[in-house]
Amino acid sequence: MPDTPPIETVVVNGLELAQELRGQMADEVAGHVAAGIRPPSLAVVLVGDDPASASYIKGKRRACKRVGFDSVEHKMPEDTSQEDLLALIDKLNRDAGIDGVLVQLPLPKHIDPNVVAASLDPDKDVDGVGPINCGRLLMGDEGLFACTPLGIMEILDRNEIALEGAHAVVIGRSMIVGKPISLLLQRRNATVTMCHSRTRNLAELCRTADVLVAGVGVPKLVKADWIKPGAAVIDVGATHVDGEPVGDVDFEAVQGIAGLVTPHRRGVGPMTITMLLQNTLATWRQRMSV
Ligand code: NAP
Repeated sequence: MPDTPPIETVVVNGLELAQELRGQMADEVAGHVAAGIRPPSLAVVLVGDDPASASYIKGKRRACKRVGFDSVEHKMPEDTSQEDLLALIDKLNRDAGIDGVLVQLPLPKHIDPNVVAASLDPDKDVDGVGPINCGRLLMGDEGLFACTPLGIMEILDRNEIALEGAHAVVIGRSMIVGKPISLLLQRRNATVTMCHSRTRNLAELCRTADVLVAGVGVPKLVKADWIKPGAAVIDVGATHVDGEPVGDVDFEAVQGIAGLVTPHRRGVGPMTITMLLQNTLATWRQRMSV
């Protein structure tokens, strides 16, 4: 039997791709600002004192600043009523100087995230969490879609991963990762298998995947022998073990088996924020007719 050639695994540099896209956005915005048009503006709403949420907001606002967007933060106390939060969102929805509204999750337990998501103006819902945008995604229409799945699609496209007819296995069925990425992959004619915590024979299913997306939050769940040789493996997981960030995929072990893999650092993460900027830019373009 002839030896099968060794597989050289491509390790995606999500940061590099993110920087390239952000550079293009910054140039576009600078050009319009020089012509007297106001820059895109994102409103971020933080309820409570969760340090992780505060740090995510900080990162998003820093990213806005770097591409020349304005951002405004609305910080509300933990005991904010749902009514008060909805009143703020209504104000932001009607503010012509705001292009995108993002409510950082998780919200305190007494606030229903679905009610909040439904209160966002669909044309300012830059996280793609509201029912109108989720419906548009389901129906194959244009809309503002969840940022992490958009970032994953960009990574797959930039690396020329063939999706038509490919078998894509998605582990996780959340509203921000698993469900929307499954729909986006289906829209590109992949055959998608959605897996979750009750899925039987998970490893076996993964072994049949040409494209494997893990959005779970279980460190190193995906082992080397779960990977079909040459598969594209997208690791969304972001957990910590002994203070160190760890993904859902055993990154070291899949080297030489996967055709492509995203690292848990500088992989999907930078692309998520980039797609938030891109969604905000899209709503701004529409509002400013540029
Ligand atoms: P989530 O809402 O907790 O969803 C996790 C999903 O994984 C659920 O559908 C769950 O199944 C499934 N699951 C849990 N344990 C499993 C197991 N042992 N086998 C198979 N499926 C299992 O989480 P999420 O918000 O989607 O986030 C997932 C991970 O991605 C987290 O680590 C998060 O931090 C990370 N993340 C990263 C980014 C980024 O930009 N890098 C963005 C978003 C999320 P059930 O539905 O049956 O419970």
